[in-house]
Parts: sequence; structure tokens; C-alpha cells
Amino acid sequence: MQKNYDHKLYEEEIIKKWDESGAFKAKVGVAKKPYTIVLPPPNASGKMHTGNVLMIAIEDILIRWHRMKGETALWIPGTDHAGTETQITFERELKKQGKSRFNFNREDFYKEVWTFVQGNKLLVEAQIRRMGASVDWSRNKFTLDEDVVSLVCKTFEKLNNDGLVYRGDYMVNYCPNCGTTYADIEIDHIERTDPLYYIKYGPFVLATVRPETKFGDTAVAVNPADSRYKEWIGKEIEVEGLSGKFKLKVIGDEFVDPEFGTGVVKVTPAHDPNDYEMGKRHGLATIKVIGLNGKLTEVAGKYAGLSVFTARKQVVEDLMAKGLIEKVDEKYSHTVSVCKAGHDVEPTILPNWFIKIDSLRKPALDAVKEGKVKIYPKWRSLTYVRWMENMHDWAISRQNIWGIRIPAWYNSKANQDLMVSFINSQGAVVKGQISNLLKDYPLVDIKSGLQTLIAPAGANYEISIKEPGEDYLQETDTFDTWFSSGQWPLATLGYPDSEDFKYFYPTSVLETGWEILSKWVSRMMMLGIYLTGTPPFKDVYLHGIVRALDGRKMSKSLENIINPEEYIKEFGVDALRMGLVAGTANGKDFAFPRDRVIGYKKFANKLWNVARFIEPITPKPNSVDNEDDQKILDELNEVIKKVNLYLEKFRFAEVAELIYEFIWHRFADIYIERVKNRKEEAAGTLRHVLMNCLKLFHPFMPFVTEAIWQEIFPEQGMLVSQRWPE
Ligand SMILES: [Zn+2]
Repeated sequence: MQKNYDHKLYEEEIIKKWDESGAFKAKVGVAKKPYTIVLPPPNASGKMHTGNVLMIAIEDILIRWHRMKGETALWIPGTDHAGTETQITFERELKKQGKSRFNFNREDFYKEVWTFVQGNKLLVEAQIRRMGASVDWSRNKFTLDEDVVSLVCKTFEKLNNDGLVYRGDYMVNYCPNCGTTYADIEIDHIERTDPLYYIKYGPFVLATVRPETKFGDTAVAVNPADSRYKEWIGKEIEVEGLSGKFKLKVIGDEFVDPEFGTGVVKVTPAHDPNDYEMGKRHGLATIKVIGLNGKLTEVAGKYAGLSVFTARKQVVEDLMAKGLIEKVDEKYSHTVSVCKAGHDVEPTILPNWFIKIDSLRKPALDAVKEGKVKIYPKWRSLTYVRWMENMHDWAISRQNIWGIRIPAWYNSKANQDLMVSFINSQGAVVKGQISNLLKDYPLVDIKSGLQTLIAPAGANYEISIKEPGEDYLQETDTFDTWFSSGQWPLATLGYPDSEDFKYFYPTSVLETGWEILSKWVSRMMMLGIYLTGTPPFKDVYLHGIVRALDGRKMSKSLENIINPEEYIKEFGVDALRMGLVAGTANGKDFAFPRDRVIGYKKFANKLWNVARFIEPITPKPNSVDNEDDQKILDELNEVIKKVNLYLEKFRFAEVAELIYEFIWHRFADIYIERVKNRKEEAAGTLRHVLMNCLKLFHPFMPFVTEAIWQEIFPEQGMLVSQRWPE
């Protein structure tokens, strides 16, 4: 054996040997117990982060442990298309070439992103492999694989047949100029100076920069703690408006800032995200004042058809004339949301696709309450219950191109007011209402150049996997990625008919970061039970978030992101994995444990040296165990018992500490020191303890244990396929 353990000489070589041995390939149908984990698919939009490393380390421990116990251990790898995130990353690349998504029709844009993602996907897969993850690559899945897309669409169809799908209001960032919606992270927030108008509103005066939206006001609000207005809450006020008098309710809401303006605000739920939330809290009506074309709707009376800015000017003039404006603050500085092109973004309510969750949530909640699914650490189950109890209907549509397109269809003749944007045969972008566009263009042209389609509330639609007829246009929205990944355990196992599904479902453990408990775990529970009647896993283990060295959240702007690859290079995969696992304390968030990573590199070397000491010893025949031998064997048995116990309870850090302590202090410092003078006599015990230590530590530090095994016990085959110590 070499003098020191150099991870660089072994890791790649060992991965190759494991691959060739087929040890990670799970076979269905043998009379063995299945043990299954589905890897939470990392995003194929970029490289892995430290959280992914911790996740892989923990799952690999569980899988290797159960495989060594003789069970059929299956760990399914995969990657996620990560809709919004990937599309935005790709658009940043496009921008460098002076292009944007508006240069492409939907289909071509999708193909471009697909090509872009393939490269990243390979990178992520290589990283999973590099981590020593004992996953079964023959079952590798991508969230946009054909069979996954087909399952997701079928589930949507089933939900619709069961009356659980509807189109409902959803507040989005809409740019009337671009004719499209933008995700929150695509929006820029700029400081701007605009006039702030103080308008008389019945007994009150209130301040607003947007008087033209007053036709959509459905209440005025004050802070309940504001003594100036307390007695008005719950009462109705009469307001003198531009076209006669009208009545408005006064509501009390914590959201209102008593310091802003006069402490009274108008509430316009259809055109402001905060007002929208307030409207939901108080059951207010939402009245749309601004249409998708950026012009005022018919509720604005004589101002209907004017653009927002013209209407504002007109409304202010008329209010002035009627003496309804008390004063104007011309130098009011505030934050405005603008789109990529710099236009003002109009918060707008657009119909989105929703899933009714009441009937789905109940069994998913009961499964945890009744202990059919256990969440570790236990205190996290409270988060789950609270989240499930407060859950609203699920908005599952996203205005993205990159994703699974919703299989809903609109008849272009029956829905005259579809808003459509497409690229015509001359390469120009054309936008408008479908009934107008069809006068100049055949539908086939619109279909082939289609960019986006916005169907108003009340549009007729059909849900169908196939095109229902030639007059139809397909919805351009895609599913929320949590809707597709919510079916991941089913999709990866080939639900409903495959042998894999019958044998491996439900899976054993779902292991992931606690921050996606509500977004992901709850959705898998609901959809898994909805489709199969059985929760998709028996246990849920939630790990904490790895923070930066200083304990703060890792972020690009703080420049404190830790790159796992650098640590792998310097300290080896084993040390990085083990350092992270030992750093987790009962699923709480923790700072990146750099010292532990260094400590476990030293430990790998210690283990190597122990083995190097034992290797050349020739055993003395017919030797009898003495007291020291018996003691270390007893201690070993105690450790084995405890390791099993801790692993069953997902107490990984304690196992790590226990084995470390046993090998370094009990075995190396005490026992080996004491038998140095009678080592030939003790050779049998030395080899026995070493062999079992390698097995016990293999799931945690797979490389160094395998490397030592190959040196000392090559006649037994690879360590990865050995039986767990009894
Ligand atoms: Zn715009």
C-alpha cells in the first residue's frame, strides 16, 4: 500500500469498476424486499450546488446500507427541465447575441432551449456520477421525456374529467406594449418621479399616482390601528365621482401604511397585487379597468378606449374641473415595475389554469396525521400540516414556452376574442384579436408562427391530448414545474403498467431539503394518492439548508457561494460528503462545515494507515483471543447495533461521530497500540474489526473504504457488493 491515501488516484477508477460490475442495477421480481429512493431531480439549467451534494450523500448512505442488507435497492436518477429558471438563463444567452424570445415562434424557441439544456443535463449527470452516487443509470429520467409528458397530460385530463380543473383569476405582470406576461424575476424595479394626486373621496382625501384606475375601486382602506379613521371601518361612504355619486365600503387592513399620503387608500383589486390580496381577504369584487390592449375598458364610461396615459391626463383634468383634487405633489418619488423593454408593467388579472385542491388535500393530510407517512425530523410535520390546512387552489399554468404545454384547445371560430401573437411568413410579429387576424391570414399561418395566445375568461375550451380539429389553437401556457415533478415517483417508475411500478411503488424514502416541503412534497402526496390510492413514499426525511461559511445564505451578490468542485479536488469526494453529513444537526440549517471536511480527509488517511499496519501481518496459527481482543469485539458489536438504530431514525451525524470515535480512538489509539507486541497473535481480530469497519463506513465514505478493501480483501470481490455486518 502507498504511504498515504491520495483520493485523486482512486476515485475515477473506482467509479468505473462499480459501473462495470452492474452493482447499482436493481432487478425486479426476485424474492427480495424492495428499497426505493427517487432522486429529487437537480435542475438541468446549470451546475450542482452544495445542497445537491448533501442530498446525494444522504441518499447514497441509505441506498448502500439497504443494498448491503440484501434488499433490492433502487435509486433512480434524473434531471428537471426547471421551466422559468432555464428559460431565463437561456434568454440571457440570447441577449448576448442581440436576440430575444420575440424573434422566434414558439416551436423554434422550444427547440433552441432543448439543445441548450442537453449540454447542461450531461454536466449535471456527470456530477452525480462523480459524487459516487450509486444510482441506476439504466432508469435515468428527464422531466421532458416523452413518457413523462404523456403521463402529466393524462393526469390533467383525468383531473378535468373529475371536475377538478377550472380557469380562474390570477394576478400577473402584463406588458400591454409587448402583449405578454413576465415572471416576477424578469421585472425591473426603477425609481421614478411622478405626480401624486390627493383626491377627495367622500369624507376622506386620499393619495394616488393612478387616478385613472378609480373605476375599478371596490373599497377604501385604512389601518385598523389608525385612530383617525377607526370609527369608519365597516361603514359605507358616498363618493362624488366623475359621473355622479357612488358608494364604497371602508375596510380596515394591516397592509395600509398610515404614514403614506393621508393614511387612506383606494383599493383596486384588478390592477395592483397588494390590493388583489386585500380584496381576497375582504371578499371584494375585482373590476377590470385596463384591457389586454392597454386601453381602458367600458367600465371607464367616456374614457373607454383611451390608453392609460391619455386617460390619466383626461381624468385629472376633469377631476380638477369638478374641484375634486385637493393638491398635487409633483415630485413624488416611487418605485415602478418595468418590462425588459422598459415599458410600464400593468399588474393584471388573467385567467390561469387552476386545480381544486379540497378533495386532493384531505387524504394527503390524513396520511401524515395518521402516521402512514412519517416525516423526519418530526417537528417538520407541523409545517406540513399547517401548510396543507392553509392551502389555496393551485394555479398550475405558467406563461413560459419551456415546459410541458397544457393540452387545452380553443376553437378559433367559437372564440373570436382570443388575443394572438405570431410571426408571419415575412418574419414580422403580428398581434391582435383572432377574428381580425383571420381576415388577413389563414389559420395555418397563425398556427405555424404562433408565439402566444391569451384566452379571456369564459373562453370555450377542450382538454385533449390530441388536436380536436383543424380550427383549433392549443393553449400556449405550460404547466407549473411542480405539477410535473409532483408526479415524479410515478413517472420514474413507469406508472401505471410497468413491472417497476408494481414492484417498487410506493417508494421507501423521499429525501429532500425542507424548503420544498410545501412546493413539492405536498404535491407528490396529493397526486400520488389521487392516481394510485397510496402515498408515494413511506418516510420523508428533510435536510437543512447548507449556508455559507459565515452562516449567511449563499448568494451571488454576497460572493459567498461555495463551489463543491473545488472541495472535491482538494479534499476528495469522501471528505466533502462526510463533512456535510456530519454537519447536519437534526435537519436544521447549518454553515458549510469546512473544518469537518478537512477533518474527514485526515480521517480517510488514518483509516488507510490502520489498514497499512494490518496488511503485512502474518497470522499466527491456533491463536486464542485474550481480554483485549474480546473487549474490542464486544465494542464493535455494540457499534453495529447502534449504527442500525441511528440509521433507521435518519440520525446520520450521530452515526458519523460514532464510527469515527470507534475507529480512531478505540481501535487505532487503544487496541492497536496494545497489541503491537503480539500482533501476529491478534491478526485474526485485527482483520475482523477492520473488515467490519470498512463495511460500516462504506455508505458514508465509499471511495476510501473500497480502495482499502481492494488492497486487503481482493479475493472477496468488491466492497460495494458485500453483506452488512450482523
Ligand atoms: Zn413591454
